[in-house]
Amino acid sequence: MTARILSGREVAAAVRAEVADGVASLAASGRAVGLATLMVGDDPASAVYVRNKHRAAAAAGMASFDHHLPGDAGRQAVEAAVDALNADPAVTAFIVQLPLPDGLDAAAVLERIDPGKDADGLHPVNLGRLMLGRPGPTPATPTGILRVLDHYGIPVAGSRVVIVGRSFLVGRPLAVMLGLKGRDATVTLAHSRTPQLADLCRTADILVAAVGRPRMFGPEYVRPGAAVVDVGTTRTEEGLVGDVDFDRVAEVAGAITPVPGGIGPMTIASLLLNTLWAAGMPGR
Ligand code: NAP
Repeated sequence: MTARILSGREVAAAVRAEVADGVASLAASGRAVGLATLMVGDDPASAVYVRNKHRAAAAAGMASFDHHLPGDAGRQAVEAAVDALNADPAVTAFIVQLPLPDGLDAAAVLERIDPGKDADGLHPVNLGRLMLGRPGPTPATPTGILRVLDHYGIPVAGSRVVIVGRSFLVGRPLAVMLGLKGRDATVTLAHSRTPQLADLCRTADILVAAVGRPRMFGPEYVRPGAAVVDVGTTRTEEGLVGDVDFDRVAEVAGAITPVPGGIGPMTIASLLLNTLWAAGMPGR
């Protein structure tokens, strides 16, 4: 293997330590910081993510609050739970774990979150601030990706980035963040209708795979020496598998994030940064 491993696990530990310092300094002035989660239903993967979020909050010295509604909870019950979290002074910020069960409108639920308590950075007001380049909580996964690139000194300014996947969770906000003044990347956002995808990907200095198709990206998608960020996570019988064919791509790429231990832990660490921001500390 030739590629350098970009360990999100390691960077996430550094972020947790940084957040813990912020939490401690707020505590010294008598202010507690709390992160809450709201989960609806019993999706096993979501249960794992929620548990990991509580662990990360505890490791950063934050209080954490676990709210759970049954899968058949209707719109009114979910809205009431969001309203209660908005009003709870012990909750600095919170997330609604996605996906929500069928029949619930995730966009409407996210919009009901107080934008000042938006740990996921997905409220339309905060996405609007992001578009305007104004400070605010930012979507957790793209924030985590930028942290990893920064930590390992992967140059972003002046680089050509190809992002594959245009979801509002990952690809679209990441494209905006990378293109902001100061970040100065030149970004192409690709998707299922993009022609000659492998050829396009081979133009990238930084390739971000956020599709959700296990091992779709082989070495033919990667320019030798490029940095490859694997956001995809698919649960299979062999465990969690990324979008990138890690073993083969690591022979070509200059740097690569693994799955697991890459962007997943960074997404969770970014929730802590957003929570600290909601508590009044810039932290980013
Ligand atoms: P999503 O909403 O399903 O979006 C998938 C994107 O991939 C869409 O834009 C889709 O294009 C594109 N796509 C699908 N098939 C393609 C193909 N053959 N060629 C090119 N593009 C293709 O998924 P998501 O929520 O963004 O998640 C993507 C993956 O990231 C999933 O595996 C998810 O589990 C993972 N994820 C991981 C983290 C983490 O913390 N590690 C966080 C979030 C998501 P169209 O728009 O044209 O349909």
